[in-house]
Amino acid sequence: MPTETFEFQVEARQLLQMMIHSIYSNKDVFLRELISNSSDALDKLRLEVLRDDTLGVDVSDLHIGIETGEDPRTLTVRDNGIGMSYDEVVQLIGTIANSGTAKFLKELKESKDVDNEGLIGQFGVGFYAGFMVAEEVTLLTRRAGESKGTRWTSTGEGTYTLEAVEDAPQGTAVTLRLKPADAEDQLFDYTSPWKIREIVKRYSDFITWPIRMAAADPQSGEGAEDGEDGARPEPETINSMKALWARSRDEVTDEEYHELYKHISHDWADPLETVRMQAEGTFEYQALLFIPSRAPQDLFTQGHKRGIQLYVKRVFIMDDCEALLPEYLRFVKGVVDAQDLSLNVSREILQQDRQIQLMHRRLVKKVLSTVKEMMSAHADRYATFWKEFGKVVKEGLLSDFENRDAILGVSSFASTHDKDELTTLQQYVERMKEGQQHIFYMTGESRAAMENSPHMEAFRARGVEVLLLTDPVDEVWVEAVPEFDGRQLRSIAKGEADLDTEEEKKEVEGEREKRQQEYAGLLTWMTEQLSEDVKEVRLSSRLTVSPACVVSDSDDVTPALRSMYRAMGQEMPQTKRILELNPDHPLVDGLRKAQAERDSDPGLAETAELVYGMALLAEGGELSDPSRFTKLVAERLERTL
Ligand code: ADP
Ligand code: MG
Repeated sequence: MPTETFEFQVEARQLLQMMIHSIYSNKDVFLRELISNSSDALDKLRLEVLRDDTLGVDVSDLHIGIETGEDPRTLTVRDNGIGMSYDEVVQLIGTIANSGTAKFLKELKESKDVDNEGLIGQFGVGFYAGFMVAEEVTLLTRRAGESKGTRWTSTGEGTYTLEAVEDAPQGTAVTLRLKPADAEDQLFDYTSPWKIREIVKRYSDFITWPIRMAAADPQSGEGAEDGEDGARPEPETINSMKALWARSRDEVTDEEYHELYKHISHDWADPLETVRMQAEGTFEYQALLFIPSRAPQDLFTQGHKRGIQLYVKRVFIMDDCEALLPEYLRFVKGVVDAQDLSLNVSREILQQDRQIQLMHRRLVKKVLSTVKEMMSAHADRYATFWKEFGKVVKEGLLSDFENRDAILGVSSFASTHDKDELTTLQQYVERMKEGQQHIFYMTGESRAAMENSPHMEAFRARGVEVLLLTDPVDEVWVEAVPEFDGRQLRSIAKGEADLDTEEEKKEVEGEREKRQQEYAGLLTWMTEQLSEDVKEVRLSSRLTVSPACVVSDSDDVTPALRSMYRAMGQEMPQTKRILELNPDHPLVDGLRKAQAERDSDPGLAETAELVYGMALLAEGGELSDPSRFTKLVAERLERTL
């Protein structure tokens, strides 16, 4: 097959431009990325051979090789791993599959600050990192089990070439034709064995495959594989291959942990928190988990991969091991190494395995307790954590009954107590007013809308704190969590407001009764008039300023929850709500008098309708017939002119 030229996909091209004009100052990391890919490729091959021993591939000496060349100056990273087929090269190297890419690139363009580096880490630019240091990149690869190889070449400027190759060794070799060294631009001499050793030590020491460095064959830019030339020194293994999770804490630096995190997560930023666990005894395992410092783009897309790698006795078994942590901790990355599992263990078996279930429980508890510690010891880190992952963690309130209290314990919420600071439930309880029975909350689209909603009036008047919940998941978990610390969670838009203490209730009892009798006629009449829309019209104890508001019955599905279910394709039955009137409002009082005198006046029925419409608008709801509402209002305004 002749050499063919292809164009990069648009996103890939944009990204390459950025790599070439390097927005990333630490260029050394290109080598980490290439080694990381080689390590993955070796893992994959070993697993494939484990599953299918008819592949006929020699896996006795899996390793990564690094070679340099002088004229032209080149650096080659070679592995005898799984390799790629022709189609895979097109797919994996020529395009960026990640759907968040376009969004990411836009963000990157708009952000002027230097935190570009952090942004880049949001998705895999791995292989392209080579273009930070190379004028041209060549990738020669052959998929294990296939006979033909593929050579891919590009300068990163818009196009790449592909060519079928007859005698490619199995695995992948990436050769960089290096840009001239320029120390001022942090572009170092990557043909220097000293420099390479340093980079490998710093970023890739823990890689579980040997990384060998050989002197280059000066004749061929592609380095040497077999070393027939007697003068060439033996390749030397330059990484220790020590599993960081199996070593004691004081033997490992934070930086080393962070580099392992980057290898596993493909993130370029440091993690927020590192969680170590070592269990001994009948069921021995080690875990090294990481909480990232930023949520990935696809955290809420279906099929988001979970980041736990399973090892058995230091041997990589699988990525994305979903049996080890629940959905609501899907952002946690890391490694779990178990001593007593079979190397052949499958996902199905893992789900059933009692020891895995035990591990799962302990890991969840450990992650939650780590967050709890972070809350008191590193408030700023906790704040980042909650901003990035709070929405996900709260999903656990719906699914993980056993850890519900622990999850509530690490949760924090916006509240009327403070405009900016979030509060924990514990802090809320400590601030509760004398005689206050419940924890009050409201759910809604935004803080502003809730603060101005009529439901808030009595609470504001009495200085009773209300939690302001704006995440979609809040609509759901509040239904599932009845109480915290023995106090009920109560929506201020549901049921009776119930703000009075028993004593206060007794005090106002007489007054209430009187009012109730006074208004009985209006309430019955209005309930009748609005029977299409509401199930009851009653007097309110939650309003001080507004004439009316709409509330849901204690057990009813709220409108927001219904629209959420609808968005997920599930229809909930329409439940009628309750209209509450403020007897202290002149409009309501006037309506009462007018109704007592002339209840068959059609204008009055319209006014009742308008009062209901206003209540809906005040809570940010929708009118069923806005044009009729407008017409009725216009008529009334006209009369005032
Ligand atoms: P990521 O590693 O995050 O997936 P990269 O840009 O580093 O992103 O690599 C893209 C893909 O190209 C990899 O997922 C892998 O499928 C393939 N690839 C890259 N390098 C190699 C290699 N040395 N051997 C086999 N496949 C590779
Ligand atoms: Mg990679």
